[in-house]
Amino acid sequence: MSKAFASQADLTDKKITFTQLSPNAYAYTAEGDPNTGVIVGDNAVMVIDTQATPVMAEDVIRHIRTVTDKPIKYVVLSHYHAVRVLGASGYAPEHIIASRDTYDLIVERGEQDKASEIGRFPRLFSNVETVPPGMTWPTMTFNRKMTLWMGKLEVQLLQLGRGHTKGDTVVWLPQDRVLLSGDLVEFDATPYAGDAYFKDWPQTLENVAALKPVALVPGRGPALLGEEQVAAGLRETGGFIADVRRSVEEGVAAGKDLNAVYKDTFAKLKPKYGHWVIFDHCMPFDVTRCYDEVTQYPDPRIWTAERDRQMWETLEG
Ligand SMILES: [Zn+2]
Repeated sequence: MSKAFASQADLTDKKITFTQLSPNAYAYTAEGDPNTGVIVGDNAVMVIDTQATPVMAEDVIRHIRTVTDKPIKYVVLSHYHAVRVLGASGYAPEHIIASRDTYDLIVERGEQDKASEIGRFPRLFSNVETVPPGMTWPTMTFNRKMTLWMGKLEVQLLQLGRGHTKGDTVVWLPQDRVLLSGDLVEFDATPYAGDAYFKDWPQTLENVAALKPVALVPGRGPALLGEEQVAAGLRETGGFIADVRRSVEEGVAAGKDLNAVYKDTFAKLKPKYGHWVIFDHCMPFDVTRCYDEVTQYPDPRIWTAERDRQMWETLEG
């Protein structure tokens, strides 16, 4: 029997956890669904990654209102993926901030990505009619580093290198030593690498580690508390990326086509990582992108709803 496309068979709601990580930082997590970070400054609130729809954003706001009544002034997009950004309007923020590279990706492929992701995640997009038409446009962009002062609280937005996408941004609180990583780091969840840079990702994780965070909010999975858990999150994400790349490189060197490389890689990685959420969903996209990078496409090709289906049919049909 062939597998249901992407996450179309995943229809069970997840349990939400809202965890305080430091005097100023909170993690909104949901058993492997996309996470949202919350920073409470002296006079305003910052939300990092918005959830998939304004209806889902309302639940984040309900949790924020249990700890502060300060205005939600800033939304930060860690990267351009629809499942992270389309809830933005729900916060009515003064500013939406993203790296210039993320802005460029929204211009180049935002529309296609929106249609593609809505097809992949029917549960997360169950209130998709509440998403405003068009794209979620940043009101402010930066290159490499931006520092915001939320009163006395210093908040750094950093591009530490490419990984999950070209535009990956992490949010770093130097005083609290808390880091919000977006999908650059996952925990108990399979890294999605369909738009990734496999060669760059491990070094970018080392750059995250060099900051020595004591708490980290991954893109999916529980908040990581303490240096040991942070190190485990970085090690396991990097290990998965390295394992996919090694397997694909070996297959390409042996002259195998994408289909054969996919089947080999899936079989090799399933025992080690098959228990992570969205493993079956991610693997065809991850192996396809890695095969592209190893063979002839330095930059990720655009996924469209149609290309998603064709790829799935070829590898899983
Ligand atoms: Zn993503």
